[in-house]
Amino acid sequence: MAGIYIHIPFCKQKCSYCDFHFSTSLKYKSSLIDALIKEIESKKGILKENISSIYFGGGTPSLLSNDDLLLIIDALNKNYTITPTVEITFECNPDDISKTKLNHLKNAGINRLSIGIQSFFEEDLKLFNRAHNSTQAKKSILLSQDAGFDNITVDLIYGSPLLTQQKWEDNLTQIGKLNIPHLSAYTLTVEPNTALQHQVKSNQIQLPSDEQAIAQFKTLIEMTEGFGLNQYEISNFGKEDYYSYHNSNYWKGVEYLGFGPSAHSYINNKRIWNISNNIKYIKAINETKKYWEEEVIDEITAYNEYILTRLRTIWGIEKNYISENFNLYIFNHFIKELAPYLKSSYLQVSNNKITLTKEGIFIADKISSDLFFVK
Ligand code: SF4
Repeated sequence: MAGIYIHIPFCKQKCSYCDFHFSTSLKYKSSLIDALIKEIESKKGILKENISSIYFGGGTPSLLSNDDLLLIIDALNKNYTITPTVEITFECNPDDISKTKLNHLKNAGINRLSIGIQSFFEEDLKLFNRAHNSTQAKKSILLSQDAGFDNITVDLIYGSPLLTQQKWEDNLTQIGKLNIPHLSAYTLTVEPNTALQHQVKSNQIQLPSDEQAIAQFKTLIEMTEGFGLNQYEISNFGKEDYYSYHNSNYWKGVEYLGFGPSAHSYINNKRIWNISNNIKYIKAINETKKYWEEEVIDEITAYNEYILTRLRTIWGIEKNYISENFNLYIFNHFIKELAPYLKSSYLQVSNNKITLTKEGIFIADKISSDLFFVK
C-alpha cells in the first residue's frame, strides 16, 4: 500500500501559532492547481504499490472550489492505481463548511473529514486568530454528520494560555457528546517567527506551566478512554475502525508521494521536499526545472526515525525488525539502552512488541532519545 499527500497552500488568515507553508492571497490559486496537476501527472508510475490513502492537507483544502477539487481527483484517478477501499481525507475549517460544500465533497469521493476545531470557546479561537467562531465549530460537525460523513476527525489544542482545566474538560465533553470517532490533540507549541512567539516574548500572553499542560494531557487520556477512543498514538485517539490510514502509513514507514509546495515524499529510501514558495513552485513546474530537495535516509537516520515514530504508537518497536534491518552496532546499542527500561514501569513487552506503558507515555521523548543511535 502507498499514500498520497496533497498540500493546498492557501489560508484565509494566519493563525497565531502556525508555521506551515501557505499564502493568504488566492491570486495564484488557479495557476497553482494547474502546476499541481502537472506534478501529479509527472510522477505517474513512481509508486509501485496501490494507493490506500489520499490526504488533502494545508493550508486550507476547504478553500478549493468544487471544480478545483474535481480536477485534482480526476488527475489522481487517471494516473494512479487507487484501491476501492481508499481513505480520502479532506482538511476543512469550520467556517468553510456548508451543506453545498459537504455535498460537493461527498460527490467527489471524500470519505473522511478532518475538521480544525482547536477549541469550542470563543476566547481561545480569538487568541489563536482562527477564522471561525465557537458557533461554527459545533455547527460544522453537526452539518457534516447530517450530510452523512461518519468518519470525522477533529483537532483540538491544549496547554494554551486561556484554557483552564474546566474548559479543557468541556472541550473534550463535546467530542464525546457529538460522538466523534477520532481526535488529534496537540499541546500548543511556540514556533519561531509566529505571532504567538511575539506575544509570548513581549509578555502579552503567558503560557501555562508544564504541570498544567501535563494535567490536561492526563485528562485527555482519561476522558477519551471513557468515550471508547483508543490512544493508538500519543496525540491520536480513535475508535478501532477509525484509525487514520494516512497517519498509520506514516508511522509504519509506508511510501508516499506529496504534491504541492512544501509537500514531502518518502520513496525509495529518500526523503524529498518541495520548495515552500507558491510562485517559485509554479514557475519551476512550468519551466520543467527542479523544485525539490532530497536526502537519502542513511541507516542511522532510518533507525532513529523507526524508534521515534513506532515508540509513540500501539504497534510499538519490534526487536526482530531492528536485528533484521540494521547493523550489529546499532542492534547492540538498542539492546543495551533498552535493558534498564525493560526493568522499569515505562515499557512493556507483549507479542514481541515493545510499547509504552501508561506511565511511559509521559516520558516518551526521553526514552526515544536514550534509544537513539548517535554517531
Ligand atoms: S488554517 Fe491551518 S494552515 Fe492555515 S494558518 Fe491556520 S493552522 Fe495554519
